[in-house]
Amino acid sequence: MSIAYRCLMSVVLAGVVCYASPALAGKDDGRLDVWWVDVEGGAATLVVTPAGESILFDTGLPGERDPGRINKLARERAGLTRIDHMVITHFDLDHYGGAADVAKLIPVGTLYEHEVRPDHRKRVGEAYLNLKCDKRVTLKPGDVIKLKQVDGKPKMSMDILAALREFIKPPKGVKAQPCDDAPKKNPDKSQNGNSIVTLIRYGSFDMLDAGDLTWNLERRLVCPHNLVGEVDVFQIDHHGLDSSNNPLLIERIKPHVVVMNNGDRKGCMPNTFITVTNARSVKALYQVHRNLRTPVHNTIAAHIANIKPKNLCDGHPIKLSVAPDGKSYTVEVPSTGHKATYTSK
Ligand SMILES: [Zn+2]
Repeated sequence: MSIAYRCLMSVVLAGVVCYASPALAGKDDGRLDVWWVDVEGGAATLVVTPAGESILFDTGLPGERDPGRINKLARERAGLTRIDHMVITHFDLDHYGGAADVAKLIPVGTLYEHEVRPDHRKRVGEAYLNLKCDKRVTLKPGDVIKLKQVDGKPKMSMDILAALREFIKPPKGVKAQPCDDAPKKNPDKSQNGNSIVTLIRYGSFDMLDAGDLTWNLERRLVCPHNLVGEVDVFQIDHHGLDSSNNPLLIERIKPHVVVMNNGDRKGCMPNTFITVTNARSVKALYQVHRNLRTPVHNTIAAHIANIKPKNLCDGHPIKLSVAPDGKSYTVEVPSTGHKATYTSK
């Protein structure tokens, strides 16, 4: 049964909200699609390129729930039968934890990770080290992941800007900007700082996924040289925790849309929320969850995919879909029926 038909049937027979939008569905729609899977405050972002290749950034926690949600969304909504590229941004459980279980549910092509040092090997354990995939690649700053292109369409690219606390050299023509007055925090020695930072581009559209990069390293990303440039979409760092989301980063990358992969009681912290909502460039903030810890810090209801507490949560996603010409993108919150289109920079 086609998605469009299933959609119509569900409206007619059950009177429920139609979640699938035929114009935006599937891997063969010529669009760049990005799905934020609800993994309850972990990370799992699924990208499907205009050529139909799939890239999964992070995998939520191990077990049935998160890998199950990723697999279900990949197969049923994105129309995938495999994950071509799986990127693990860093070795915290809410990012690498679900990888081995995802690989049992859906075939995985290449696994990308930063260098796995002896202390990392102990940390991630056998299930992760031996997970089933075609090959493993160690990412370094400056690496470019080769993606299939579509003739006559804008260039699709995926550049690695940082990994394991190392950064690319400033691109040619990027001038140093003063930033001495930007405050620093105590050095962060956690795994978060190791996060792989990826810039995804399709024509004039770009999006930054920096995993759980923390404050001083976010500063390093834009100071003195802005290594990112300006982006359309910023997946909030570290689920919206205040140990990340340095205002200097947001001021310099000037996102129009921010997507927060928070949980009901994780992330979406006060300072981050204020930074994002006060940023002049930001037109819209979307949240995977309503913040139940400090309810005053929530975006508008239509932009929140899940409102129930974790134990009762239905796990609704957020979807972003870039037009085949790259010049605009639509953000959709299927659970609220919200849909808005933005012009790429
Ligand atoms: Zn995390």
